[in-house]
Amino acid sequence: MALGKGRGRLRRDGALLALLVVSTSVTFAATPAPPEDANRAPRVLILYPYDERIAATTVAGEALRRRLLEATDGKIDLFSEFLDLSRFPEAEHVTRLGRYLAVKYAAHRPDVVVALGKESASFISTNRATIAPEAKIVAAGFGNSTAENFDLPDGVIGAFTTFDILKTAELARDLQPNARHLYILGGSSEFDRSWLATARADLDAFSRSYETTYLENLTIEEFIDRAAHVPADSIILALTVFKDRAGRNFIPREAIGKIAAAANAPIYGPYETYIDSGVVGGNTVTFDTLGETVGDLVLDSIAGKSVGDIQAPQTFIVDARQLGRWGLTEKNLPAGTIQMYKQKSLWEEHWLAVTGGFGVVLMQANIIAALLLERRRRREAESRSRLHLLEAVHLNQSATAGALSSSVAHELNQPLSAIRNNAEAASQLLRGDSPDIELIKQILLDIEADDQRAGDIITRMRGLLKKRSEIELQEFDLNEVTSTAIRIIHGEAERRGISLASDQKADRLPVRADKVHLQQVVLNLATNAMDAMLDAVAEKKLTFATSLAKGKAELCVTDTGKGIPQERLTSIFEPFYTTKHTGTGLGLSIARAIVEIYGGTISAENRPEGGAIFNVALPLAGREERAL
Ligand code: ADP
Repeated sequence: MALGKGRGRLRRDGALLALLVVSTSVTFAATPAPPEDANRAPRVLILYPYDERIAATTVAGEALRRRLLEATDGKIDLFSEFLDLSRFPEAEHVTRLGRYLAVKYAAHRPDVVVALGKESASFISTNRATIAPEAKIVAAGFGNSTAENFDLPDGVIGAFTTFDILKTAELARDLQPNARHLYILGGSSEFDRSWLATARADLDAFSRSYETTYLENLTIEEFIDRAAHVPADSIILALTVFKDRAGRNFIPREAIGKIAAAANAPIYGPYETYIDSGVVGGNTVTFDTLGETVGDLVLDSIAGKSVGDIQAPQTFIVDARQLGRWGLTEKNLPAGTIQMYKQKSLWEEHWLAVTGGFGVVLMQANIIAALLLERRRRREAESRSRLHLLEAVHLNQSATAGALSSSVAHELNQPLSAIRNNAEAASQLLRGDSPDIELIKQILLDIEADDQRAGDIITRMRGLLKKRSEIELQEFDLNEVTSTAIRIIHGEAERRGISLASDQKADRLPVRADKVHLQQVVLNLATNAMDAMLDAVAEKKLTFATSLAKGKAELCVTDTGKGIPQERLTSIFEPFYTTKHTGTGLGLSIARAIVEIYGGTISAENRPEGGAIFNVALPLAGREERAL
């Protein structure tokens, strides 16, 4: 309790007791109790010495109520009375109060009365016969020596608490081994003064190691001012300030809070309730523990067990925030000290999350490492497969060049024969008497043009035969590649009696790829189409149509050949499918690989009127960049 204390003798107790003893001589007739129901719930009356604002008693009272309700499953009748004896200590009032409660509880006699604080204990000792004649009394919240002082009647058991100022002082010494000054402060109420007297006695030996000053008989302002100017190497022990020198009443923890806020050195106090008011800590009985201890005594009393006095467990308690404020070291705390408001380390508070987080990070790292390895492997595989593709394309190109070589040779023949004929004609003209110079000039121009044609044919073939180890990405017009391919095969087409048609619907169809690769695609489709028309009896026509369709550059190669078996329309692109005696079945699979590497698609269908259509769609350059 806030007001309990041990070891010393409380002079105020004596005075109060004297008043209370006087009050017993006032007799009155209490209403006789009605017959009791044997099965009724036990009744417990809790007497609080002050009003409901004194945390010490209310905290203990609440803990007591909780324990009783839990243990009895709610089958208990609890009554509370706030005696307010600090503000109304007058004998007449105490007498009136006793009489009033005797009448109030006449029909509800308590089985147990819990008197929290020595004032309540004195009160019920005096008024027991009229308020609760049959009840067991459990007194709690003060030290045994206090109890001896007002001579608790027989049958009253105590859950005693000792608020030991010496132990609190020792805690301060452990935390501040270099302190040289000791201040002990207390208020001017009778209780405050008696506490100061007790402390003087209890700290007699202890205080000799320090330059000791008692701060007493001061107004609250003076307390604040004095505390603000103590040397930094001071220990301040705060007892209670119920009243200051000016007679102003305080709730002690509020007065101590004001002083602690301005103090120039750490303040310690023996009450748990001071913890939240800026006090470092002290040796105390926590009010929760006290409430629970009393609860157990009450339960034993109700159960009819034999009960005796007990000592409520004491503990050191500190406010970790104040340790931080004053730079006091945690390792100097006595073992088992309760640290309130301790900020746990990240590890202590979130060890699960930290472990989990660490695990997740580790897992992520593993996944990332695996992905990187996978990416490296994939890139290596991609680069290997690209190399294979390039080799396949090259072989395919060579095969195409080989297949076209006779018609290319035939094609070359034309300009070469023309050159030879024109050269012969020119030399004949020169051999004449008056050569026609203008005609010779024209012939020479023709020779030049034929040479150019022959050169172009060779250039186109060279491109077809060139081996590449890397893809040469460039932007070009799909129309242009188609036209070049047409020029390459036109000799062969002519030889086979196939007419070529070109339908270019868009001016320009920019695509981004390796030009030679796309040319190879067009040549593959064209040679396949020409092969398909080999046995055709009707018109043999090969059409190259380019257009812009659905944002893509499109090329359709249409023939009037035998068409593709319906069930083969999709599998035709798989490698090694061939219907030709000398075929490899690789042309279309290479064409598909090339188209797909540049982000395009290739498909085949049959024309209703006969023949096949191959459709190539490529992303327009600038619209869709594909990482290679
Ligand atoms: P190959 O030409 O060596 O046979 P391809 O992969 O180029 O290999 O062609 C595979 C097969 O697809 C050909 O053998 C042929 O049966 C069929 N094919 C390809 N193009 C056409 C077409 N335009 N019309 C009919 N069938 C075709």
